[in-house]
Formats: sequence, structure tokens, C-alpha cells
Amino acid sequence: MTRSVITIKKDILAKNDELADENRKRLKEAGILAINLVSSPGAGKTSLLVRTLNEIGNKARFAVIEGDQETDNDAKKIEATGVPVTQINTISACHLDAGMMRKALDTFDLDSIDTLFIENVGNLVCPASYDLGEKMKVALMSVTEGEDKPLKYPKMFRVSSALVITKTDLLPYVDFDITAATDYALKINPDLKVFKVSAKSGDALLELYDFILSGAHDL
Ligand code: MG
Ligand code: ZN
Repeated sequence: MTRSVITIKKDILAKNDELADENRKRLKEAGILAINLVSSPGAGKTSLLVRTLNEIGNKARFAVIEGDQETDNDAKKIEATGVPVTQINTISACHLDAGMMRKALDTFDLDSIDTLFIENVGNLVCPASYDLGEKMKVALMSVTEGEDKPLKYPKMFRVSSALVITKTDLLPYVDFDITAATDYALKINPDLKVFKVSAKSGDALLELYDFILSGAHDL
């Protein structure tokens, strides 16, 4: 029994990878940099996106795909920035998959987008296994979480290109060892580019903006 379950799971992922490759091809043809934002629930993905779009929304043509199990609350916040947004409600699924991504891509005029953010469902486990066709995953982790998250959920940090430690304005009030968190993450993935930011105070956001805007040039 166990063996057949494992086979089914492999088939699902193989099918997902095929669709992800098609998405990747489409994105590449349209010259779009797609960034898949992954984190636990509440790490601050939406707040970071809103501030980013308000501050550099005029430097590139952005679009956003919002993944949540239910509600369009986050999509409304993105919409208020003036950036095109498509909400995907996954209902029972705890991650976005490449098929959902394809449907979301169909809702945009791809030729008028330079950079596409995908805000995945808050979950550090399966979004690590589901390629959507994005150029890179960027993992977020807030200082209100345990600093050992990279050790507990290594796959997510291994498959990500960057780590954004968020809510650094709260550091004086929490027992979060930011040096240890960075060390753990780099131990899992020495190539991770690490940013330590606050979407509230604005601290260190310029460095992150440079990374986002320059990433568009090496497609
Ligand atoms: Mg959100
Ligand atoms: Zn899932």
C-alpha cells in the first residue's frame, strides 16, 4: 500500500514539473522575471509586497499572483497599489501548483509585465516541492519565528535563492538570534543571498529592491 501511495505522489510531481516547464518557457518568451515568495503564515509577505510596489512600482511593470486557501484580503491590498493582481484560492490545497499558475498566467497580458511576484500559500513544506515555473524562490522568515526554521524545514531554504528576514523593527522585543538564523540558513544553503529588512521602518529595503530590479537583467 505504502508503495503505491509513493508512486502516485511521484506522478503528481512529475506532471507538475511538466506544466512548470511550460510556464517557465512562456515567462521566458515574454521576458518576465517570476519570483515565488514562500514562508510560514504571517511572515509578512503581503506587507513587504505592498511596500515594495508602493516604492518601486514605477521602476518596472509588476504583476502579482496571490495564493491563499480562502479570501481575497491580500489581493485587495495589492490592488490598492495599482498593480495588476490575480487571486488563486486553493481551498483544500496548502500550496500553489503549476496548473494553478498556468490559469493565473492566462489572466494577464504577459507582454506588459517585467516582474511577476507569486505570493504562495503560507507553508514551509510542500511549496518547496512544487515548481511553478518561476525563476527563483525567495523565502521569508520573520523575527517572531524560531531562528531554527532553516534546520527544521531545510528543503525550503535549499531550493530558495534568497532569504529575507522580516520585521527586524521587532528585534529589541523578541528573543530572536538573527546571527544564528543566518548561520543556520547558510549552513543549509551557502549560496543564499540574505536580506534583513523591516517593511514597517523601511530598514535595508533598498538593498532588496536592487536585487529585485537587477534580477530582471539576467533572464
Ligand atoms: Mg499574505
Ligand atoms: Zn501543500
